[in-house]
Amino acid sequence: MSKVIGVDIGGTKIRMGVIDAEGRILAERQVKTEFPLYPHLERHVLLFLEEHPDVSAIGIGTHGFVDPQAGSIVFAGDMLPGWTGTEVKAPLEQATGRYVEVENDANCAALAEAKFGAATGLGRVVCITLGTGLGGGIIWDGKLLSGGPHGGAAELGHMILYPNGSRCACGRLGCAEQYLSGTALVRRIKEAGLSVTPPELFELAETDAQAQKLVADFTEDLAIYISSLQAIFDMDMLIIGGGVSESASAWIDELKRQLAKVLLNPLPVEVAQFENDAGMLGAALLVLDR
Ligand SMILES: [Zn+2]
Repeated sequence: MSKVIGVDIGGTKIRMGVIDAEGRILAERQVKTEFPLYPHLERHVLLFLEEHPDVSAIGIGTHGFVDPQAGSIVFAGDMLPGWTGTEVKAPLEQATGRYVEVENDANCAALAEAKFGAATGLGRVVCITLGTGLGGGIIWDGKLLSGGPHGGAAELGHMILYPNGSRCACGRLGCAEQYLSGTALVRRIKEAGLSVTPPELFELAETDAQAQKLVADFTEDLAIYISSLQAIFDMDMLIIGGGVSESASAWIDELKRQLAKVLLNPLPVEVAQFENDAGMLGAALLVLDR
């Protein structure tokens, strides 16, 4: 029975798991993210591998733009300082003696949902992650649509939603990430003069007109964004994950009302099944199917 290690690298922690072909997490380890990141990662992967020597390969999911062919980081912002330009695949294969694959974390999450989660068995799936940023992953006929000359394929957060709108971390104006991430939602609440958290906002919207308007604006933007994705991909399902999706029960009906106005065709929209485990499971899937 094949077992692999899946690693999920985030801004504050690195999660590692031994995962089998059925997607079961057999063992798990969590360490703080420290810099310089590569030697820190290699040290902890080696320690974990010592305890679990029977794994055949290692999959790495990380924040940032990744070149999966080269196994290197094309660009990672302030969340992972010094990570841009780092070679990961070659040195880690050398150090561990195992096959290594590297991918963007949102792509890994999409892979996990399509293989074991909300979209199990579907061939064409778009997964968006509303967290600190707005990430995306596209499964096309069962495979990840990723890479590109700049590692930027499926960077769905950087589709421009508002021309000349708010400045994005990528340097341009009006990217969807500036309107549809958890961070953006916090900003929208602040700009409206309210002092509540996003989950509180959704609760408040049941009784308060201003909160209701904010939620309506947010879901309307999200619906327009999803309709554009459908126009390109005509996917079998759209999955919404990330922190904002945890309170989806409070806004999904409103989103579906807004979607009815702008979708070209019917589209199942589901909330992600794996929250914290998606990145690690998806990273394992990079090498499990090999
Ligand atoms: Zn951008």
